Amino acid sequence: MIASDLRNGVERLGDMIAEASTIVPFTGAGISTECGIPDFRSPGGLWTRNRPIPFDEFVASPDARDEAWRRRFAMEPTFAAARPGRGHRALASLYRAGKIPAIVTQNIDNLHQISGVAADHVVELHGNTTYARCIGCGHAYDLVWVKQRFDEIGGAPDCTVCDEPVKTATISFGQAMPEDAMRRATELARHCDLFLAIGSSLVVWPAAGFPMLAKNCGAKLVIINNEATEQDDIADLVIHYDIGEALGPFVGN
Ligand code: NAD
Repeated sequence: MIASDLRNGVERLGDMIAEASTIVPFTGAGISTECGIPDFRSPGGLWTRNRPIPFDEFVASPDARDEAWRRRFAMEPTFAAARPGRGHRALASLYRAGKIPAIVTQNIDNLHQISGVAADHVVELHGNTTYARCIGCGHAYDLVWVKQRFDEIGGAPDCTVCDEPVKTATISFGQAMPEDAMRRATELARHCDLFLAIGSSLVVWPAAGFPMLAKNCGAKLVIINNEATEQDDIADLVIHYDIGEALGPFVGN
């Protein structure tokens, strides 16, 4: 059912939150656009400017690795300046109130953790871009080290432990999904009574399967996104308004 207007949507969402005992939010890039981080698919989104570099290309091509790191360094002022928005803060409030056991996110920007949700309670399906890892042994690196090394050698650095390439700790297209995060997200979707899909176009699979899974396992499903998604038809409530406006009233509750 699509909310007739923002006020109606917020009221109905408030009732559903009050009735629920276990709420699982599932967030996408749309929750972070008010924080200054562009999403992928909106006009002006990242895809309109840069074709994503698939994992196999990153592994095979030093030029692709250099380009991937140049893009990441260019985004650093944006990621470093971003602060949690109203959506993040509303979810952090519900987490503190004990309604949310963990947040499942497609985002890589670390903003749920910055909003006060323990890192253990943020299930990152697509990793995290605020640090780097060796794709061979998994050794972690901070981005300051990567930038210094890149400037010294004039290109993407390799791991000091095993010599394999170092990449942001994100999941690229063509890269295996993180097993533990997928398992935890599946459990959370199966055992909640309210599932909130927030700011996702719901076209990136397998992540987009979680709202449907939650609904099939008996949860009520709410979708908050300013454009239609393919799963609107199965949702109990759809709010086609700005996320900050829709979730702002729940900050601090
Ligand atoms: P997406 O770009 O495919 O979809 C974002 C959706 O949010 C769009 O439908 C857009 O209309 C909507 N939206 C944007 N701003 C909104 C607002 N203020 N209020 C309401 N709706 C709004 O993003 P996705 O579904 O997360 O999938 C893209 C992939 O890109 C993700 O898996 C993620 O890994 C990655 N990504 C992450 C970030 C981030 O971490 N902030 C940013 C860009 C891309």
